[in-house]
Amino acid sequence: MANRLEKGLVQIYTGNGKGKTTASLGLAFRAAGHDFQVYVMQFMKGQTICGELEAARRVGANLTIEQVGREAFVSSEPTAEDRRLAAEAFARARQLTSSGDYDLVVLDELNCAVDYGLVPVAEVKELIRAKAPHTELVLTGRNAHPELIELADLVTEMREIKHYYHAGQQARRGIES
Ligand code: ATP
Ligand code: MG
Repeated sequence: MANRLEKGLVQIYTGNGKGKTTASLGLAFRAAGHDFQVYVMQFMKGQTICGELEAARRVGANLTIEQVGREAFVSSEPTAEDRRLAAEAFARARQLTSSGDYDLVVLDELNCAVDYGLVPVAEVKELIRAKAPHTELVLTGRNAHPELIELADLVTEMREIKHYYHAGQQARRGIES
């Protein structure tokens, strides 16, 4: 296919400031505009209605976004069900990343899933090694594991300088979701 990258790289967006998911979606949107095949899996957002899901539907068939897992556990201990969902989703992410069917794969909040012990870091390293050569891979989420930072080609840290959350501003539809 004419649009394919010669070599796909590995990018990580991490840090405690706002913008990691937004940046990855911006990249997905850009790539989709060049007719790249784009797949985005959002971990731990199973119950959130995000604007990007509807926008992806409107952009067309070459931008697919799926949400997996439960958001609620983030404030509690992961349950056996959370682990089962994460393992299942991760197996699918691994298959899609190695399939060669996608030019860009975004695994949104995978860093957090690793941080919460839902996905072993060794398995993510294996996913990176097994990725199709032309597939660009983006991992987002706070607390990126040092071993993943080591393997990545690009790492950006979103650093919080100010956040309106601290002034009592709640998440807003269309801005945070
Ligand atoms: P976004 O999805 O807006 O790009 P993000 O992916 O960088 O943000 P996450 O770490 O995934 O941020 O956090 C999810 C949401 O929680 C974000 O919309 C962010 O603005 C919000 N948030 C960030 N910091 C805090 C905080 N200290 N307390 C509560 N919510 C926060
Ligand atoms: Mg995010």
